[in-house]
Amino acid sequence: MGKIIDGKAIAAEIRSEVKESVAALKSVGVTPGLAVILAGDDAASQIYVKNKAKACDEAGIYSEVVRLPGDVDERRLLETVEILNRRDDIHGILVQLPLPKHINEKTVIEKISKEKDVDAFSFENVGRIMTGHGAFLPCTPAGVIELLERSGVEIEGKNCVVVGRSDIVGKPLAMMLLSKNGTVEVCHSKTEDLAEHTKRADILAVAIGKPKFISADMVKDGAVVIDVGINRDENGKVCGDVDFERVLPKCSLITPVPGGVGPMTVAMLLKNTLAAAQMRNGTGEN
Ligand code: NDP
Repeated sequence: MGKIIDGKAIAAEIRSEVKESVAALKSVGVTPGLAVILAGDDAASQIYVKNKAKACDEAGIYSEVVRLPGDVDERRLLETVEILNRRDDIHGILVQLPLPKHINEKTVIEKISKEKDVDAFSFENVGRIMTGHGAFLPCTPAGVIELLERSGVEIEGKNCVVVGRSDIVGKPLAMMLLSKNGTVEVCHSKTEDLAEHTKRADILAVAIGKPKFISADMVKDGAVVIDVGINRDENGKVCGDVDFERVLPKCSLITPVPGGVGPMTVAMLLKNTLAAAQMRNGTGEN
C-alpha cells in the first residue's frame, strides 16, 4: 500500500520558513510585496487570487490586487504593469491567467520586469530554467520538486515520466527533473501507447486535466506518483488526473487531490516573492 504525500503539511512547513525569513527581512526595513493583476471576473481566478492574498498576509508579505474590467484594453494593462515595475515596494508581479481573450498574454507577461516575474513565465526566465540558472522557478513544477525532495525521493538516475507538456507545468517540470539528474521522458496527447511509457516510470508526474485518466495498470509497482491535475469527477467532486483509489495500493508514494500539489503552488509563490525581495536587498542569489 502506498503512502500519501501530505502536500498541505509540506506547504505549511515552507510557508512557516518563508514567514521567518520575511520577519528577518522586515527587521532590516524591507517588506516583501506582491502585486496581482486580475482582469475580468472569472470565478476560479477570483478564488485563486483571494487565496494568494490570504497566504501573503499570513506570511507577513504585503500584497495588493489590481482589479481591471474584463474589457480593459491591452495598452492600459501594459501601463499597469509598467507602473508596478517602477514601484519599490512591489517585488513580485503576477498576472492572473487566463486573461480576457482579446489580450495577448505573452505581450503582457514579457512586460513584467524579469526581477519581478515571480511566476517565471517570461521567455528569459524560461530560458534560464533550461540552462539551470533560473532566478525563479515556476511555482507548480517547483512545488512538485519540493514535494519529492521533502518526501525523501531520490530523483537522480530514476526514470521520470511526465505526462503533459504545457508551458506552465509539463515542460518546466521535465527540465527540472532533468537538472536533478533524472532520466526524463515527456508524453502528450499524440504519444502512442501511453501505458508502455508510464509503466516504466519510477517517478510518474501527470498534468493533463483529465479526471482519473491514469489507471492502476498504467503504473509500475512501487512507483512514486505525482498528480498535478485539478478536475471535477462525474459527481462534481474535485479529483486529479490519477485514479487515486486504485493506484494507491500499487505505488510507494502518491499525492492526493486536493491536498497534494495544489497547496504547494501558493507556497512556492511566497518563496519566489521573498527571493525577489532578498535579491533586491542584496541578500539573495541571482
Ligand atoms: P494544458 O491543457 O495546458 O495541457 C495539457 C497537456 O496534457 C497537454 O500537453 C496535452 O497534450 C496533454 N494531454 C491531454 N490529453 C492527454 C492524453 N489523453 N494523453 C496524454 N497527454 C494528454 O494543462 P495544464 O498543464 O495547464 O494543466 C494540467 C492540469 O493540471 C489541469 O487539470 C490543471 O487544472 C492542473 N493544474 C494544477 C495546478 C496546481 O496548482 N495544482 C497548476 C496548474 C495546472 P498536447 O500538448 O499534445 O495537447
